[in-house]
Amino acid sequence: MTRTEALGLSVLVSVSLALAGCGRGATPPPAAANPPPSTAKVAPADVGSARLLNAASEPSQWMTYGGTYEEQRYSGLSAINRGNVAQLGLAWYADYDTNLQQEGSPLYIDGVIYVSTAWSKVYAFDARTGKTLWEYDPKTPGQWIVNVCCGIVNRGIAAWHGKIYVGTLDGRLVAIDAKTGKEVWSTLTIDPREHYSITGAPRVANGRVLIGEAGGEYGVRGYLSAYDAESGKLDWRFYTVPGNPKDGFENDAMRRAAKTWGGKWWRLGGGGTVWDSILYDPQTDLVYFGTGNGSPWNDQYRDPTDGDDLYVASIIAVQAETGEYVWHYQETPADTWDYDAVSPMMVLELTLDGKRRRVLVQPSKNGIFYLLDAATGKLLRAAPFTEVNWTTGIDMETGRPRVVPGARYVHGGVFDALPGGQGAHGWHPNAYSPQTGLLYVPTQHAYSVWMTDPHYKPSPIGYNLGINFGAQFTYYRSHPGVPQGFTSYLEAFDPLTGKIVWRGEANQGPTGAALATAGGLVFQGGGGSEEFRAYDASSGRKLWSIQAETGVLSGPISYELDGKQYVAVSVGGNSRGGFYAPNYSRMLVFTLGGRAKLPPATPYTPPPLNPPPATAPARVVAAGRAKYSQFCAACHGENGQTRGAAFPDLTRTPLLVSQDAFDQVVLKGVLSPQGMVSFAAVLQPADTAAIRAFIIARANELKRMPQFGPGPGVEGLEVGGRQPGG
Ligand code: CA
Repeated sequence: MTRTEALGLSVLVSVSLALAGCGRGATPPPAAANPPPSTAKVAPADVGSARLLNAASEPSQWMTYGGTYEEQRYSGLSAINRGNVAQLGLAWYADYDTNLQQEGSPLYIDGVIYVSTAWSKVYAFDARTGKTLWEYDPKTPGQWIVNVCCGIVNRGIAAWHGKIYVGTLDGRLVAIDAKTGKEVWSTLTIDPREHYSITGAPRVANGRVLIGEAGGEYGVRGYLSAYDAESGKLDWRFYTVPGNPKDGFENDAMRRAAKTWGGKWWRLGGGGTVWDSILYDPQTDLVYFGTGNGSPWNDQYRDPTDGDDLYVASIIAVQAETGEYVWHYQETPADTWDYDAVSPMMVLELTLDGKRRRVLVQPSKNGIFYLLDAATGKLLRAAPFTEVNWTTGIDMETGRPRVVPGARYVHGGVFDALPGGQGAHGWHPNAYSPQTGLLYVPTQHAYSVWMTDPHYKPSPIGYNLGINFGAQFTYYRSHPGVPQGFTSYLEAFDPLTGKIVWRGEANQGPTGAALATAGGLVFQGGGGSEEFRAYDASSGRKLWSIQAETGVLSGPISYELDGKQYVAVSVGGNSRGGFYAPNYSRMLVFTLGGRAKLPPATPYTPPPLNPPPATAPARVVAAGRAKYSQFCAACHGENGQTRGAAFPDLTRTPLLVSQDAFDQVVLKGVLSPQGMVSFAAVLQPADTAAIRAFIIARANELKRMPQFGPGPGVEGLEVGGRQPGG
């Protein structure tokens, strides 16, 4: 347990004590003449093909990640609607045992809410009272987070015939007994010598659990696997990029893909990880999934030829039964901007040019909205859903983007990209309303700077990107006039016309996932604004909001219990004080007339910004910045100041006062059980001295800035990071 978690727990304990006698933060249930039927009589998570195929006709439930197999995140419930949403209030809440960021989209099945939280834990709550029925902890070793790019997060779970499935950060797929919370089976989905992790939600189709991994920032080869839901045995696996030709190719798709690669790409895996979107369409009987960035990010180091590098940054369709390749569409050929094509997708039935079509849609990280024929993968529409500067648009004949000159930052060039590595749209699920015909997209407007690292060498630990990661900081500081910044908002987008219909208010940093309902509403978390909101789905007018005391990022759901509609959302994203701040990560459940109240947020003062004097020569600080950028920035932030709660802000760490203490952690690995492993394999004492000098210089610089001072730092959410996902 980290110090922060211990802190969080003490808050939790005091909250629980304060509420002793009236349940764990629950509103006392109203006295009912006829007590509601006991959920204990219903078999837990009793979900199979019949119910999942007809999920839209059972809107009282939320049985799969996106609501139905089509993943439109549309609830057919309308008891909460435009006319009465102002009366929405908190029915109950339940605290988690962590203050880390929460990205888990819950399931609601027959009276029970299931949700995954940080460290790949899973909770089951009695939906009537908020009481914890069980908690499952896969006991992920803290050391594994050196392989995790973007937060100690988990985005969701799947249910099938009495079991709940979760992927763990250290690459296990686990089946949990939905009644007891006990592990039924656990299968390692990765080679543990490689730098994989799982943060995405599994899906279940026809008795197979589908799961992919993250790791594209570290140098791995992506794949999607299907496991038998009963036994956990591997059924099929589809690799997304070819391996070493000397080992032979798994299939023709790999043979064809290898022709689009040059150099010795397999040494760093090639990338193309399947870290978020997976969708099974029962009508086409295909499984669709998005693939991540090429590895390393910088195409000049990945493939020195002009190859497209199939199938990175692509949408792939395979047979659900066999995993056999059917079609692919590559969104970003020869990706060199971390433009993962993994953002959430959905299947829609639309009339296009007079013809009814079943289509697959994705507002992608690269800023383009893609609409493909679900059966054939034919590109039918492609339009930017926000401002982009790396392409002037998509050639509909070839399906390829027209890339602007300079965007590839070759020959020592610099490119201030929009969207930057954060993407125009991350992992945050979209919603679609058949009432309005609009797609609701959590949209990011974020720049980042691309610059090659001319000294790049593959590293056995930490990021393998091939870019100057610290340029984000140094370039913007030396070029204050260039466009920069990171804002986000919910956007209503017409998939037929490619027009933006409305935009919600902008937040700093990322924004939250969306839920559309038959009540004419769109619910959405406002990221670091700490708001949870309901918009009029047609006009975009904000009709209701509540302060959640923490960041709201994950996918909301809606369900019906005892004749009442509820909206549930898992919140947590420390935008107040970072690593050292107290815990407000929770499950929040709302209904009309709900009267529960969150306890007031505890006043909090972060540790002082009080570094030793900066005395090191500029060349040492510069060397330290370079090493910091490669080995530390992934977790601790780009400029020595982390953005979130998962990792300490190094400008405030007491370790700065002593090189010996600093090296005990960085070289000797004394905090390894808490996740800070030794970097002795790649850093020498001269390197750590330079890194410490850089952080001290940065801390002194911050202390001189009026907006920082010794008080609270300006910190955003840990985001899913500067570059969401893996
Ligand atoms: Ca990525």
